[in-house]
Amino acid sequence: MEDIIIIGAGAVGCFIARSLSRYELSTLVIEKENDVGDVTSMANSAIAHSGYDPVPGSNKAKFNVLGNRMMKEVCQDLDVAYEECGTLTVAIYDSQLPMLDELLERAKENGVPAKILTAEEVKAMEPNINPEVKGALLCPTGGIVNPFELTAHAMENACDNGVKLHLGEEVTDIKAENDHFLVKTTKGNYEAKIVINAAGLHSDDIAKMIEPISWTIHPRKGEYYVLNHYAKGLVNHVLFPLPSEKGKGILVTMTTSGNYLVGPSSEFVDDKEDLSTDTLTLANVKEQAKMLVPNIPFPEQIRCYAGLRSTPSTHDFIIEPSKAYESFINVAGIESPGLVSSPAIGEYVAKDLVGKLLPLKEKSDYQKTIRPYCHPQKMSVAERNALIAKDPRYGEIICDCEKVSIGEIEDVLSRSVPAKTVKAVKKRTRAGFGKCQGGFCQPKVINLLAKHYGISPIEVLYDKDDSQIVKEEVKKEA
Ligand SMILES: Cc1cc2nc3c(=O)[nH]c(=O)nc-3n(C[C@H](O)[C@H](O)[C@H](O)COP(=O)(O)OP(=O)(O)OC[C@H]3O[C@@H](n4cnc5c(N)ncnc54)[C@H](O)[C@@H]3O)c2cc1C
Repeated sequence: MEDIIIIGAGAVGCFIARSLSRYELSTLVIEKENDVGDVTSMANSAIAHSGYDPVPGSNKAKFNVLGNRMMKEVCQDLDVAYEECGTLTVAIYDSQLPMLDELLERAKENGVPAKILTAEEVKAMEPNINPEVKGALLCPTGGIVNPFELTAHAMENACDNGVKLHLGEEVTDIKAENDHFLVKTTKGNYEAKIVINAAGLHSDDIAKMIEPISWTIHPRKGEYYVLNHYAKGLVNHVLFPLPSEKGKGILVTMTTSGNYLVGPSSEFVDDKEDLSTDTLTLANVKEQAKMLVPNIPFPEQIRCYAGLRSTPSTHDFIIEPSKAYESFINVAGIESPGLVSSPAIGEYVAKDLVGKLLPLKEKSDYQKTIRPYCHPQKMSVAERNALIAKDPRYGEIICDCEKVSIGEIEDVLSRSVPAKTVKAVKKRTRAGFGKCQGGFCQPKVINLLAKHYGISPIEVLYDKDDSQIVKEEVKKEA
């Protein structure tokens, strides 16, 4: 019997696993996709929000602010790209200026450093901003983070510390027995003293497996443009419009990889799997973004994508035991700002909720850091030459757009959270993220995966179970 089963390996499940991995507990994470962080945690704005915006006193405000304060150290420990670039919430009309005052008050209540800037100050910081700008709220502790690394490295740290991870296995039923739960999956049956439901969009479906619930999760779609990393300085901060009842609005931001993101839209949809993008919505995103930065170079667009927020009917994060079972913990409705909140949610669930039910004895050999990754692109030419002389695999480039070497790909394949699919390699290393979107490097990545796992290239998946890329061999060796 496991002490704990966590359902879902998005940012939330991964950080809960990481926090629990500090203690002498047996923890199993069950994830239906073939990689960690393969749903909402990979398709968002990747902003480490400061916390100026959530309603004071809400779970969102509490965990956002705590998560933001933890982010720098977490990213150092987990070798995750993070930049505290600050955010600007921008007023374009005079009529919007009183809202900046309201947001400043809210920031103060939430304990978030913030300051109102004049139009001239904003223009000096952001040369490409709409010249009509009337002022902005600067939150210097807001930042950007690499969401793929954040999730995968948190789970890597958890697994290095003994957590077990089952990928590609869907939880289909849960039964409460006398003092434990029986968890059924597509691959087997498991028993656990505690179940933690971190199933994102499906957290209501999972919660309903043990009792009727009074809340629902409604998917709310956000569509984006991704621009190439063509030049620095289009924007220097994360730029938000003023928030509305639809959320934080359409932002313009750089990413930790130097690309730019423009989006997201905000529309409720019925289908929890609907990640389609559409021309009309994106045209609207474009128009609204131009209100912040009129000269966004949209010809630099390399891709569009959509993510689904797990919007709860309660309008706040649900982080509590179920009504009938103290040892069934729902961590549900974690919409934005859930990414930045996830390290703080992990700590709370482990220490406060699990800690009430099981003794938390710290492991003597617990490591809070992971084995550092090699970052050839951050090295000087001399350092890079020395690295290549030592290990020639770092000189053999697989992805020309993003300059990713065989050495980096083979490194991620050797980690405790292996990259099993082409998309997992892409998220970990950026091979395929560039202008050609994998057109050139994908066959080479397929061959590396096939070689590493001892399978045929035909068996290598892009992402989901039925996503083989190679259909058949046309040239067979004699
Ligand atoms: C458009 C958009 C913009 C956003 N921008 C930001 C932002 O800038 N900053 C920020 O902090 N937050 C942002 N967020 C929110 C953030 O992305 C989420 O709060 C966070 O990723 C939620 O993580 P999660 O682990 O709860 O969900 P997920 O990442 O969806 O993980 C849940 C996991 O559970 C698994 N699962 C579901 N059902 C089962 C089952 N039956 N069996 C096994 N596994 C199962 C899923 O496969 C999935 O991997 C944004 C979200 C969206 C959609």
